[in-house]
Amino acid sequence: MLEKARELLKTYFGYPAFRTGQEQAIVSALNGKNTVCIMPTGGGKSIVYQIPALMSQGTTLVISPLISLMKDQVDTLRQLGISAAYINSSLSAAEAAETLEAAVYGEYKLLYVAPERLESSDFQDKLQYIDIPLVAVDEAHCISQWGHDFRPSYLQIARLVKALPGKPVVLALTATATPMVQEDICQSLGIDSANAVITGFERTNLAFSVIKGQDKLLFLKDYVKKNSKEAGIIYAATRKTVDQIHEWLQKENIEAARYHAGMNDTERNSEQERFLRDEATVMVATSAFGMGIDKSNIRYVIHFQMPKNMESYYQEAGRAGRDGLDSECVLLYSSQDVQIQRFLIDQSAEQIRMGQELEKLQSMVDYCHTEDCLQASILRYFGECDPEPCGRCGNCTDSRESVEVTKEAQMVLSCIIRMGQKFGKAITAGVLTGSRNKKILEFGFDRLTTYGIMKSQSAKAVTELIEFLISQNLIGVEHGAYPIIFVAPEGKDVLTGKAQVFRKEAVKIRQVANDDP
Ligand code: ADP
Ligand code: ZN
Repeated sequence: MLEKARELLKTYFGYPAFRTGQEQAIVSALNGKNTVCIMPTGGGKSIVYQIPALMSQGTTLVISPLISLMKDQVDTLRQLGISAAYINSSLSAAEAAETLEAAVYGEYKLLYVAPERLESSDFQDKLQYIDIPLVAVDEAHCISQWGHDFRPSYLQIARLVKALPGKPVVLALTATATPMVQEDICQSLGIDSANAVITGFERTNLAFSVIKGQDKLLFLKDYVKKNSKEAGIIYAATRKTVDQIHEWLQKENIEAARYHAGMNDTERNSEQERFLRDEATVMVATSAFGMGIDKSNIRYVIHFQMPKNMESYYQEAGRAGRDGLDSECVLLYSSQDVQIQRFLIDQSAEQIRMGQELEKLQSMVDYCHTEDCLQASILRYFGECDPEPCGRCGNCTDSRESVEVTKEAQMVLSCIIRMGQKFGKAITAGVLTGSRNKKILEFGFDRLTTYGIMKSQSAKAVTELIEFLISQNLIGVEHGAYPIIFVAPEGKDVLTGKAQVFRKEAVKIRQVANDDP
């Protein structure tokens, strides 16, 4: 079977080998298993359903919401000598009817349809007469309300497939891989989550890093000057910050362009053009910038402020190094930025989505505090199993020693328990460092045995330790009106001494002795 698939890959598409994931997904579908295939854009998802289509009797139905891409796909297939057609709103009623008629006569190996078609009962009736071995659901994230492109008509797919006489295999494909979207796809289309093939999200030429506890502006100016010959993007969370950074850079005589939703179309287009034509080396922008931008030589993407979730982060950071050359993705972390994102979520999200959005934000914060490989953390977030450390990121190249912090972790955890697991990070850090804050005194927390047990450290350092413990899943966060921290199951093992905690030692500045003996 695999032999045959490889042969088709060579003869029809001219490629010598499958990319990682393609083979797995194809074999799974050919074995009659409903399968979900998650690969980044450009990963090669089309071949994953086109080859099984060629290997099966009958007509593979491809559901795709992208009308313009449908035509391209069909044209390409026809050039390769594969009979294919599409039915969508770009066809007249007569043309659509004609195509459907031909499909009933078994004319096509692949038939592409827009999801809206599925709602027509006439269309549904006709499908009964077509021999359909496989239904490929492209852009399958459209099925999920948590995806960025929910389409109600996608919810019809499962029912429609069930109604088909031939019991076709379902092959769902998407580039969006958050666990929640994945779960929705699997549930909705009846796919066993064991039949998820997720690969190819690693960007081997990108080096990720998170910068904490530094003057962000100084870092930024320094970085941009050092890389003054290279194209880069600086993302900020608000229009105001974009304007500010833009002004700072101009004062430093750096050719910077600017882009955000507060500017008019003409202005935005001309700024974008300046950047694309390398007249401006740096683009300072909000997340409004970048969709559909094709500039391959971007050497760095700096996030001056943390974005609202990992999906946005990976998408924006991923604009670096499209040409395959080494590039950097730097995130400048400060805890105030978490507040900004919280505020933006409070302002915009519908009530039901709020909890989800806050959880996604927490994953972003965890990324900033983890000591694991950053690339691997991202891949794990998107559902890849056991990604290897990249060897390039800020954490992989961090040569500081790990030191045991089990005792400190126990102090924090037991303090959280003594406070009733009903409070946030800041007040917990306050109790541990013995703050005389009014709220702390009002609650009588100054009488707890854990009050002031970490007073040799700053509240900021203790807050960072708490954030680190959250990123290690020892402390959980519950997102209500404000976030509450509690001891997670793994944290209990630390409290009882069953598990230890290690953390990279804080940077020690060594005094160099002046007077050599
Ligand atoms: P996606 O739908 O995942 O965004 P495509 O299916 O459009 O990606 O494929 C992206 C490109 O990769 C296409 O040019 C395709 O021909 C090419 N491609 C796909 N599979 C392979 C392969 N096994 N070897 C080489 N190139 C491939
Ligand atoms: Zn790494």
